[in-house]
Amino acid sequence: MAKTKIAILGAGPSGLAQLRAFEALRKTGVKDLPEIVCYEKQNDIGGMWNYTWRTGLDRNGEPVHGSMYRYLWSNGPKECLEFADYSFDQHFNQPLPSYPPREVLKDYIMGRLDKRAIFNYIRFECPVRWVTFSEETQLFTVTVMNHKTGEQETEEFDYVVVATGHFSTPNMPYYPGMEQYPGRVLHAHDFRDALEFEGQDVLLVGGSYSAEDIGSQCYKYGAKTVTISHRGGSFGYNWPENVSEKPGLDHIDGNVVHFTDGSTQAFDAIIMCTGYLFHFPFLPDELRLDTHNCLYPDNLYKGIFFQSNPKLIYLGMQDQWFTFNMFDAQAWYARDVILGKIQLPDEASRRKNMDAWLQRYEQSSTDSQCIDFQASYIDELVSATDYPEFPVHQQAELFKQWQEDKKADIMGFRNKIYRSTITGTMGAQLPRPWLDIKDDSLEGFMSLKFEKVI
Ligand SMILES: Cc1cc2nc3c(=O)[nH]c(=O)nc-3n(C[C@H](O)[C@H](O)[C@H](O)COP(=O)(O)OP(=O)(O)OC[C@H]3O[C@@H](n4cnc5c(N)ncnc54)[C@H](O)[C@@H]3O)c2cc1C
Repeated sequence: MAKTKIAILGAGPSGLAQLRAFEALRKTGVKDLPEIVCYEKQNDIGGMWNYTWRTGLDRNGEPVHGSMYRYLWSNGPKECLEFADYSFDQHFNQPLPSYPPREVLKDYIMGRLDKRAIFNYIRFECPVRWVTFSEETQLFTVTVMNHKTGEQETEEFDYVVVATGHFSTPNMPYYPGMEQYPGRVLHAHDFRDALEFEGQDVLLVGGSYSAEDIGSQCYKYGAKTVTISHRGGSFGYNWPENVSEKPGLDHIDGNVVHFTDGSTQAFDAIIMCTGYLFHFPFLPDELRLDTHNCLYPDNLYKGIFFQSNPKLIYLGMQDQWFTFNMFDAQAWYARDVILGKIQLPDEASRRKNMDAWLQRYEQSSTDSQCIDFQASYIDELVSATDYPEFPVHQQAELFKQWQEDKKADIMGFRNKIYRSTITGTMGAQLPRPWLDIKDDSLEGFMSLKFEKVI
């Protein structure tokens, strides 16, 4: 019998989790595993965690995937994303503060991978162009552009795992007057270095993490004033004196922005922190997940299997309180379904199950309820596979504490430390407040003298 073939689209944390799920079995001596090909658009693994200075197009003329920026530090406690089977202690051999910079986290995430084994599966610089499914053969046909050879390649697969992320294609609204605005207008996706806005009056449009974090970066690196315009109520933070909030943006006149409450202000630059689109240009209508950023996208059984064709698997498509350990939980579950260890129920039962989760989600309105919702979702996945159990509900409590700490001090929450739910180790204390530490490099961070806390 021909071997089962799986295509994994994307080698970011979700795609890597899928590769690792199979590798974990191979390492225990399981033979006859499916054949896997992972197609990755970039020239390295890591997805969003690969910092790139580029914006617009990459060297192959493909849209730049990365939305991360310099000086980006973890936006949640590292204790909430710690792997059950690879702790921070194991990787760093010393306690670290709870909010490390991007390079440090990337080092940790990649540290547990057996790169030599993983790289064997990946075809780099191969953006996926198109995927079809044949009812007749029950196979997917995947077409990619191989930029290394300059040729298109087509291959058939039994399963396709879509792990291409959903924080890359900007949602860019239009406001009257934008075309005459003399300053720079950019989306958060293209924001790279807060120093660009030193001494400037900067407007951020949006009411979510990006606005909050890019606003904090601009403050930290010397913007004259930072204004955040959003339609929702107040963030509820105690902002420093030169950071303020405004209601929604109405229109722009020259360099003066008019807000919906009638107030006006001139700005040097506008950064649109207005979210991302789910964008799958390589999928036809009948295979394409149609959703917005939420904790339970409809038509994904277990948050993974596409309802009308469950051989099409989506990873990491949820809004994310939890990240890496959620991707692992999904990847392990998907692996066991592919291997036939877990049987999927029929279409009607899957629908019923999704409806029950959606109903539960509808009742989750506060952040705490949403955190608990996602923790329960992960818990259910983990308990069905041999993925090591981990205290996901304790991690949920840390997320709630994090929310409180942000409310108490938005510019100081990254000085807080938490206890690992995996090893019991307490995070180490930063030697100086986060606001005063400007070097975000791995070397710079690791050379700091952290204070050990018992
Ligand atoms: C600004 C920002 C800050 C964040 N900060 C944090 C944080 O502090 N902590 C945290 O846990 N999470 C954070 N996240 C969330 C982050 O999205 C996840 O941590 C994680 O990167 C998601 O993994 P993924 O593999 O699902 O997607 P991605 O990391 O986006 O990876 C998707 C991969 O698919 C590839 N790809 C895309 N299209 C194609 C194609 N057509 N063909 C082939 N390959 C393709 C991409 O090149 C990429 O490698 C942040 C996200 C953003 C945008």
